[in-house]
Amino acid sequence: MTPFRKKFADGKITPEELHAQLAFPKGAKCTGCGRPPMTCARVYYPLDEVIKAKGALIGDILMDARLSAEFYKTLVQLKSGPHMHVSTVYACKSCKPDLVRQAARGPSWAFVDFDDGPGPDKFVSGATSANVILA
Ligand SMILES: [Zn+2]
Repeated sequence: MTPFRKKFADGKITPEELHAQLAFPKGAKCTGCGRPPMTCARVYYPLDEVIKAKGALIGDILMDARLSAEFYKTLVQLKSGPHMHVSTVYACKSCKPDLVRQAARGPSWAFVDFDDGPGPDKFVSGATSANVILA
């Protein structure tokens, strides 16, 4: 191992900052404070739970050609089956703990995908909780 490490993009930008610039749509703001976001949470509900809760509404939506086209755009196929994209919430670095806490309060069957990016570009030596795979 060399004592010197080449910096990402010659130190002009960190991987975390590059992800924040490229991964989120322009104009996206932290829901908590309005600053530029560093992470986002996309919430998906299983389609069977949505139909159980709002079956009549889904039926009405599917009868309308324009609304059903919009409805199909929200569907994604995950390993556990079809899911409906319900919301996307952005958070800055300091508001992220609040975002995680709020996401944990949702229904247990909801799937939340956190887009955190690569994390800070820090040199890691030895075992940490982030690089140890628990058996
Ligand atoms: Zn914030």
